[in-house]
Amino acid sequence: MRERIPRACPNCGEELPRRRGERPRYSAASLALFVVGAVFTIVWAWFLLAASPIQVVPRGPNGVAICAVVYLGPGVVIAGIAAWLPKTRKLACRKCGWNDTVKV
Ligand SMILES: [Zn+2]
Repeated sequence: MRERIPRACPNCGEELPRRRGERPRYSAASLALFVVGAVFTIVWAWFLLAASPIQVVPRGPNGVAICAVVYLGPGVVIAGIAAWLPKTRKLACRKCGWNDTVKV
């Protein structure tokens, strides 16, 4: 799934500039998953508060921690998958204008 970052332009052979300051960005799939995770967390919390047959409310000394896991767990898992997906880095050739997005 991960691609090697080419050192030279595959079109004209010009050495590609290395931008050390540029950090890889989350891919569109990752960003979409983050949104899914956020929306799912809202819907899930609404379900637990309003529609669930079992009321999930903090009880006892560990109640708040257990509730946090129950409420936020699915969203954290989805966000974790989104963060784990390969990031993308944009490459561009100064000479011929070739550009590509690679997964890193
Ligand atoms: Zn080129």
